[in-house]
Formats: sequence, C-alpha cells, structure tokens
Amino acid sequence: MVDKFNSAIFFDNDQGYLDDVKIKCPGVQRIKVNEIRPLRTSSLNSGPLKNLMDSLHSEPTENSYTKEQNSYVRFLRDYKHWVPSYYPESGIQHVDIQKYYKWFSETTGNRILLLDWDLTLSMFDGIDIPHIGDMNYVNFFKKPAKTHNNFFSQAWVKPKDVAVFYLGGKERFRMITEWLKDVANSGIHIAVLTNNTGSKDTLFKQIVAEIIPKGAYEIISSYFPPYNGDKGKILADDPRFERLCPKIGGKRKQRKTRKYRK
Ligand SMILES: [Mg+2]
Repeated sequence: MVDKFNSAIFFDNDQGYLDDVKIKCPGVQRIKVNEIRPLRTSSLNSGPLKNLMDSLHSEPTENSYTKEQNSYVRFLRDYKHWVPSYYPESGIQHVDIQKYYKWFSETTGNRILLLDWDLTLSMFDGIDIPHIGDMNYVNFFKKPAKTHNNFFSQAWVKPKDVAVFYLGGKERFRMITEWLKDVANSGIHIAVLTNNTGSKDTLFKQIVAEIIPKGAYEIISSYFPPYNGDKGKILADDPRFERLCPKIGGKRKQRKTRKYRK
C-alpha cells in the first residue's frame, strides 16, 4: 500500500516538460521558471561565468589567507576543458518560492514538491562532471581513473563547492537551501525530476545531497527508457500520483523527440 499524494507542485524552465505533465497529470500544479532564450555561450575568461567564478574563488596571496575559496572553480580554471553553460537570469527565484508558499497554504494532506534540475534548481544547462573514459580528465590527473566516481576525492573537489557553483553563488545557494530545509521540516516530500543524463550518477547524487535535507527527497530520472524524457509519463506510471494523473482512455498523440540535456 503506497501513500498517495493529494497534491503536487512542479517547477520547470522548459514549457515542453510542463506541457507533458499537464497532459498526463492535470492535478499537478505547474510553475514555469524563468529562462532567457536563445541560450548563449559562456566563457571562462570574460562575462557572467568569469564574474561568478571570481566571486567564489581567488588564490590566497602573501597578504591575505582568508580569500574566498571554491575547489570546483579552482579545478575549472586549471583544467580548462569544460566551460559550464551559465544563465544567470534562469532558475528559481524569490518570486517562485512565494508561489510555493501560496500552494502550501492552499493545500493539505500528503504533498510533494517536484523540481527540475537544469536551469531550474541549477542556473546552468548541463553539469560538468567527469564521465567514464574521459581521457582529458584522466590525463589531467596523470593516473587512470578506475571509475569516474572518485572525482571528489581524487580532484580535491568538494561536492558542496560544486553545489554552490551550479546554484549560481553563495547568496542563491543560501536562499534555495534554506527554502528546502523549511519544505522538508513541514513534512512536504521533495523530488528532483530531471532529464539530465547524469542524474543516476553517484556524483550527481552527492551534489544534490548538499542542497536538500537527507531523507526528505528522491531523484526521479525521466531521461531513460521507457520514459525517454516524458516527465508526465513517469509520474503517471507512479502509483503515488494516481489521484493527480487520472488514467483516461483513447489514443494519445505520438510525442515529438526533444533535445536532451547533456
Ligand atoms: Mg530544465
């Protein structure tokens, strides 16, 4: 016997994913999170990404040992093979969090907050962490990585530093983590509902663990078959969402293939 959800709210930047949920699960409240299209290319040497990196990390000097330190930013600067795609106008902001609290005050019972990752929790499109067999990465550390899961220990990169970076800096990291702590404390379940292809990786889980309180959340990966990116279908197939995703008869339109997130 599963605990069925009485109410759910879902935040995503991508209207296509919101529409998929609307079709299969009309009982789920949907919030469109801000994003600016077309997406622009980021640079490590100028513009918003450089500014974010500078705000998070500076090398200690003779006169100052107390400068800001971020192991992931230090890694990106040394490594140079990755340029994370940063969109500072995107992602959940204070105005979205207010919409959550409105929903919270208007609903009761067993409830869940569903959060997309890319450009919603994160202010980036994709997440740059090593993949198995990434030779640039292996060569950088001058020894073969047995698995990509030892990134954090091998590269002296702290999961929290990665989390702060992808959430767009310390201020937004604080806003999001304090919000989700409050959500968890009020007994609302949380799920990261993502099509990110890395979302089943240990590294991804370690990063999310820095953002949402332990025991209060799960990660729902809709990228993989049979869901192939359909966030509505994966919810509709989950018996906990039965009240919010009523089964209706009749043929459905074939969904179009959508570009996946890296
Ligand atoms: Mg997204």
